[in-house]
Amino acid sequence: MGRERGKTEAGERDRIGAGEDVVPSRRQYLSLKAQHPGAILLYRMGDFYETFDDDAAIAARDARITLTSRSFGRSGRVPMAGIPHHALNHYLARLLHAGHTVAIAEQLSEPGKGLVERAVTRVVTPGTVVEPGLLPSAENRYLAAICRLGGRIGLAWADVSTGEFALAEFDGPTAPERLAEELARLNPAECLVPDQPDGDQPIETRGHRTTLERWHFEPAGARTRLLRQLRAATLEPFGCAEWPAATGAAGAILVYLERTNPRLLPLLTSLRAPALDQQVVLDAATRRNLELTHSLRHGGSRNSLFGLLDETATPMGARALRRLLGQPLRDLGELRRRQGIVAALVEEPRCRLGIRRELGIVGDLERLAGRVVQGTATIRDYLALAAALRAFPAIQARLRATGERALLGCAESLDTVPQLVSVLEDAVEEDAEQGALLRRGFAPELDAVRDAAHQTRSWLARLERSERERTGIRSLKVGFNKVFGYYIEVTRPNLPLVPGDYLRKQTVANGERYITAALKEAEARMLAAEDEIAALERATLARLAESVQAHLPRLLRSAEQLARLDALLALAEVAARERWVRPMLDESDALEIANGRHPVVEASLGGAPFIANDCCLGGEHPRQCVLTGPNMGGKSTFLRQVALIVLLAQVGSFVPAASARIGLVDRIFTRIGAHDDLPGGASTFMVEMVETAAILRQASARSLVILDEVGRGTSTQDGLALARAVLEDLHDRVGARTLFATHYLELTEVAGELSRAANLHVAASERDGGVIFLYAVRPGTADQAYGIHVARLAGLPSWVTERAAELLDAEPARAASPRPSAATPLLHEDGESYQLTLDGIPRGSLGAAQLARELRRLDVSQLTPGQAIDWLAEQQRRLGYGRDG
Ligand code: ATP
Repeated sequence: MGRERGKTEAGERDRIGAGEDVVPSRRQYLSLKAQHPGAILLYRMGDFYETFDDDAAIAARDARITLTSRSFGRSGRVPMAGIPHHALNHYLARLLHAGHTVAIAEQLSEPGKGLVERAVTRVVTPGTVVEPGLLPSAENRYLAAICRLGGRIGLAWADVSTGEFALAEFDGPTAPERLAEELARLNPAECLVPDQPDGDQPIETRGHRTTLERWHFEPAGARTRLLRQLRAATLEPFGCAEWPAATGAAGAILVYLERTNPRLLPLLTSLRAPALDQQVVLDAATRRNLELTHSLRHGGSRNSLFGLLDETATPMGARALRRLLGQPLRDLGELRRRQGIVAALVEEPRCRLGIRRELGIVGDLERLAGRVVQGTATIRDYLALAAALRAFPAIQARLRATGERALLGCAESLDTVPQLVSVLEDAVEEDAEQGALLRRGFAPELDAVRDAAHQTRSWLARLERSERERTGIRSLKVGFNKVFGYYIEVTRPNLPLVPGDYLRKQTVANGERYITAALKEAEARMLAAEDEIAALERATLARLAESVQAHLPRLLRSAEQLARLDALLALAEVAARERWVRPMLDESDALEIANGRHPVVEASLGGAPFIANDCCLGGEHPRQCVLTGPNMGGKSTFLRQVALIVLLAQVGSFVPAASARIGLVDRIFTRIGAHDDLPGGASTFMVEMVETAAILRQASARSLVILDEVGRGTSTQDGLALARAVLEDLHDRVGARTLFATHYLELTEVAGELSRAANLHVAASERDGGVIFLYAVRPGTADQAYGIHVARLAGLPSWVTERAAELLDAEPARAASPRPSAATPLLHEDGESYQLTLDGIPRGSLGAAQLARELRRLDVSQLTPGQAIDWLAEQQRRLGYGRDG
């Protein structure tokens, strides 16, 4: 059929070009385009998808194709750019990448009989892509919708390639931040928002932003749509009956899919409302800073936590692992269940190996199911589905064979969907010669046409021999080409032997090509049979897809379970290989890590030893630790390793340590390093302060806060004052377990003053004028900053480092000293009066700022002389000047 269609379509193209039938075809194009004004319309004409007018110019630029023009007869010439139909995905990717929505108009009627009927069969948008080549396999691609109703914000999201469909609703003053955090976790490719949002605040989105008419987000209509989609009578079981905004958002997703590609809808068979109060909240900065899925330096997933852990056997397992890491939990029961499975798998290397092998056969079952539902599955896909299902019992058997309770539970809960196996086995088979086939007997009409085609093919195969015998031409050949179809070729010397019933068709370099009436007839039969086979196969596959769909919810549940098992297997694999341990989890507020390691840095050292370090925070230990030490000394590594160990523990994984006890945290905050957001209009310092503000406003006593430098982007005094105020607030008010790395040695004094804070430092030593990093975290304060040593290591010219050393020596008061001398004058004489100036105060005497504040606040008129003397003595004592200080 392909050949014939190609030929007649070309004919149709030519006719349009020649001026016949012109206006209707142009009108057809324009009316389809009018239905999709915001999309690039790809208009199928024969072997091409054409774009016209402005679309052609845009497509030529963004898909990098040639811009030409064509005549529509009386309608005149218009710009045109075309994409060969077989390369659609390739160019589609380019158009989507450039942020376009693409409407695809297919031919619905056979060419050659008047104007070909066409309709837009799907609209591909960044969030609704399902083409296998266009989707990253190890990552979910989400379409999200956001709906605000008063103070409530609803969020719904779907991965239309796997059927994941979920929603959440946020309420109260932190709702916008919670939305931003969820969007950071999901990283949707496209966000739907109402064209007229409720209230005047703009809605923050991520990915491509698409507006829909506001009424599609109305909760009542959305509820009806959802109930119909889920075939349910109430939304209660889905946990969103009381969530009007989230319901509105989920309803908008359904409307959008109905409009863009209704074939995607049947895959959305269930709706989840994750228990947000059971999740550990990670904001966008924390996800980025901890390099969960992307390395900050390299961009890709290599050198990220996900990159290290991705020992999954299937793409759906890789996606599940990514989701797991992106969503740590506070649900002790679920975490212990996961730990149980990981622990059992760690003990069973043979079981791990066996299951990974079976999972290799299962493959990407989620997206396979997606293709079945979308009607794009091939016979080979059904064979793959059958093979996947056959692997289920083998996986169950391997889990059972371990005798481990946690794994027995997994085996029992896995639904092997046996009815579906027999549906598929009746339908498809793998033939040694012909490959994937619809099984004989499954579609009798198809069998009959195939048999007829087989007979014709055999006749054609025999023809060469019989014609050689009949004509006596030994070199006679029967061949086929796309343009002329079947022919009989005779070389020049044999031309006199050509019989009278041969009709000359084409002259070639060394002979002539002929046809005969019988050959022509066989060719027609063959082509008709091929068309018929293709049509019958399509119909049979559609019937098969329907039977598979009846089992879809069970199949998807099993796929999800296996994806999860694959992810936990990866965790077990890495735990076993890297000798990680099972952390003890409880509801306490203690964090006790013995010999913790940074998993990714350790792996990147290429065999060089990683220095393990302890960390104790909360419980009976200090809650806030100030960490000092030289540049490059390992501070950031230590901070991140603590956060990663907590995160891994709250994912259900083992952790890189000798032992660990983790009192569950509700949020992990990190403020690390200096980066700016110039496109977003924020300088380095502004970004730093925005992130710090978010931490102080949102952290609770159960949170883990990691601060790597605060106040570096401004003057030393400002920065130091801010850093101190932040530390005091975390200590006095918030109470979060905190690690605060700083280059301000002055802050170590503050930590000394605060009752629940302590100092830590990373050890380094000086030898032969150089610095040796020991990477060991020890109690107390760093003895010096080693900045000049590190500058020397970095290759700063020697005359610069020597001059710096000279300056440092010449100004001992400003040289980094671990603690201020008790005798350092706080107030200095300025003319007649004593004046308090921050400028005159050496580093380490930050107490002066506080003293100044308190002096200002002091109402002298209300003091008795005795109180005044007591107050003075108290200040003296605090600053270490007093007799007993
Ligand atoms: P800066 O203050 O300049 O940001 P830093 O103190 O934060 O530096 P890191 O970035 O943590 O230092 O560490 C620098 C390098 O030292 C790491 O990239 C790693 O190669 C090595 N390193 C850090 N910690 C350890 C460790 N515990 N064991 C072995 N090597 C380590």
